[in-house]
Amino acid sequence: MTPNTHIAPTVDAANPWATHAVRIRAIRREIPQAFTYELGFEDPEVGTRFRFRPGQFDMLYLPGIGEAAISISSDPDNPNRLAHTIRAVGNVTRALSRKHVGDQILLRGPFGSSWPVESCEGQDLVIAAGGLGLAPVRPVLYHVINRRERYGKVWLLYGARSPRDLLYTAEYNDWRQADIDVQITVDLGYDGWDGHIGVVPTLFDRLRPDPKRTRVITCGPEIMMQFVISACLTHGISARNIYLSMERNMNCALGFCGHCQLGPAFVCKDGPVFTYAQMEPYLDVEDF
Ligand SMILES: Cc1cc2nc3c(=O)[nH]c(=O)nc-3n(C[C@H](O)[C@H](O)[C@H](O)COP(=O)(O)OP(=O)(O)OC[C@H]3O[C@@H](n4cnc5c(N)ncnc54)[C@H](O)[C@@H]3O)c2cc1C
Repeated sequence: MTPNTHIAPTVDAANPWATHAVRIRAIRREIPQAFTYELGFEDPEVGTRFRFRPGQFDMLYLPGIGEAAISISSDPDNPNRLAHTIRAVGNVTRALSRKHVGDQILLRGPFGSSWPVESCEGQDLVIAAGGLGLAPVRPVLYHVINRRERYGKVWLLYGARSPRDLLYTAEYNDWRQADIDVQITVDLGYDGWDGHIGVVPTLFDRLRPDPKRTRVITCGPEIMMQFVISACLTHGISARNIYLSMERNMNCALGFCGHCQLGPAFVCKDGPVFTYAQMEPYLDVEDF
């Protein structure tokens, strides 16, 4: 399958298996189960060469434990402040959650396709994210804000289970001031929450997007993305203009092991960002 967006080469184009030592510079607790790790390359020469595009991911490696694919959640215009937001769910991510500032881990990357930030220029953009799915789209927000005049209307529709599960809450005001229409929802409110209650697609239903000039970027649980997509199609937005990130379990990140194969595509090297037109036949294929 031909990737639909640019794929930036790994920092070691000649040897994508090469790992690089990075030191944890800062750890920020975002929500009870997820932390953002700011990483710095030990070798300044590698740090200088490292570039990534919004939507790409790194393989974070803990020797003796394993590797996990983790999206880059920081500003692509500032690759020296490299950040990843991680939820502790299994072997690697739980071991990472026990690391401290100053500890060293290994990284290879960046890998994968990216969000179509250039072809969205001149268009309206709806970014619809759920839960930890805000992490892989945060680089899009930074990219757009850094060159805001190139985009039309921009909406961020973001939802989480409850107010305490919302990521990056300290940044919403900055994003609003940069002319992003930030709309937040939670599945379950509680005392003191006076915002919207409902799933992310219900926010979409409140918009009046112009189907011809609207591009949609969505990331989150696949069931949420499917409902967002269905709302987009109802509004007349073409399947070719809806982009999603398929965060399926993967191993090698290079298209060799076949673990993340979906029809003709390998999520690791042809994705994770695809158009809905490309992924529509495979959304019901179970992850393993
Ligand atoms: C392109 C891509 C980008 C990703 N970006 C991020 C990211 O930014 N932050 C992040 O935290 N994760 C991200 N993931 C998910 C992460 O790679 C997996 O959760 C990975 O399996 C974690 O490795 P582990 O060894 O800790 O868990 P494993 O040992 O592989 O998994 C342990 C158990 O947890 C389950 N599990 C795996 N992932 C999840 C999940 N997301 N939610 C609930 N249960 C799960 C597995 O099914 C398994 O039963 C991304 C995945 C992909 C493919």
